[in-house]
Amino acid sequence: VFNFAAGPATLPENVLLKAQSELYNWNGCGMSVMEMSHRGKEFLSIIQKAESDLRSLLNIPSNYSVLFLQGGATTQFAAIPLNLCKPDDTVDYVVTGSWGDKAFKEAAKYCNPKSIWSGKSDKYTNIPTFEALQQTPDAKYLHICANETIHGVEFKNYPDPANLLIADMSSNFCSKPVDVSKFGVIYAGAQKNVGPSGVTIVIIRSDLIGNAQPSTPVMLDYKIHADNNSLYNTPPCYGIYMCGLVFEDLIAQGGLSEVEKKNVKKAGILYDAIDGSKGFYRCPVEKSVRSMMNVPFTLTKPELEAEFVKEAAKEKMVQLKGHRSVGGMRASIYNAMPLAGVEKLVAFMKDFQARHDA
Ligand code: PLP
Repeated sequence: VFNFAAGPATLPENVLLKAQSELYNWNGCGMSVMEMSHRGKEFLSIIQKAESDLRSLLNIPSNYSVLFLQGGATTQFAAIPLNLCKPDDTVDYVVTGSWGDKAFKEAAKYCNPKSIWSGKSDKYTNIPTFEALQQTPDAKYLHICANETIHGVEFKNYPDPANLLIADMSSNFCSKPVDVSKFGVIYAGAQKNVGPSGVTIVIIRSDLIGNAQPSTPVMLDYKIHADNNSLYNTPPCYGIYMCGLVFEDLIAQGGLSEVEKKNVKKAGILYDAIDGSKGFYRCPVEKSVRSMMNVPFTLTKPELEAEFVKEAAKEKMVQLKGHRSVGGMRASIYNAMPLAGVEKLVAFMKDFQARHDA
């Protein structure tokens, strides 16, 4: 099956096979990773290797901490303001889709967020030019969602913030190189590009740690997690192990520049098929900001959409239905989607069009 789900999403087959091969007996220790103490030397070696591989993949500067947390990116919508602001601080949000909007709304409980740009009136099909951003000079941070999973818009470069830049990279994490030093915090749920659900990765400039609002729950306080190397309480051990296997695989592929080349190629093939369909398929997103990861598209004849999804599933291409809030179709083509999956989808799209474009 080629699984085009937006997340949890497809994982590299070789990673799953490796996990299967050591399911009962990790590295000859006689235990599954699921059974190990998170404080034992076996698991410590797993989490430390995962962190060091991620550091080398993203070239993370030494003055940044890497945290493996729980609660999904949604929890970070609260943790970010709780850790970085006082209740009356102003912060800026660029709202380019549903996820940016959720982050903005959650922040209002803990500080004073301003939406300085919203793509809502254009149905979230664009990213602002950076000149269009009227940042609040004393805003504590500028928050963006680097890739909107539902609407399929992606920042191709990043604005210079008045103060700090914070990015939700859940759905394009490790899909291409990123200059981490431009950011105060990068956070991402693992379940799209780097592992199973249950692990949330936070990369934070270390000097920003230690200023949480007094009411911050311990589980949301970055200092607690940084001081304890992500082992303050029981972490999502198996998920972290799986992320580690994915990082090893990304390194073996040649690192994120090589991964990006593959992603550019896959996305190019799919967008070309949509644009070359003479309007039978349409992608509503402005071309220059189309996501390499999540490709939303519609049919000129919406009554055919259910049939498209059903027939594709019969051909073993699943999860192509668009998010319930926007309809249409969406093909999520994360790192682990092979080129063959995209080629098969494009061949199916052409065949479907030939049969229905009367
Ligand atoms: N941010 C983005 C860009 C997402 O795509 C998602 C989930 O799909 C979230 C945040 C929420 O993540 P979680 O479900 O891990 O809380």
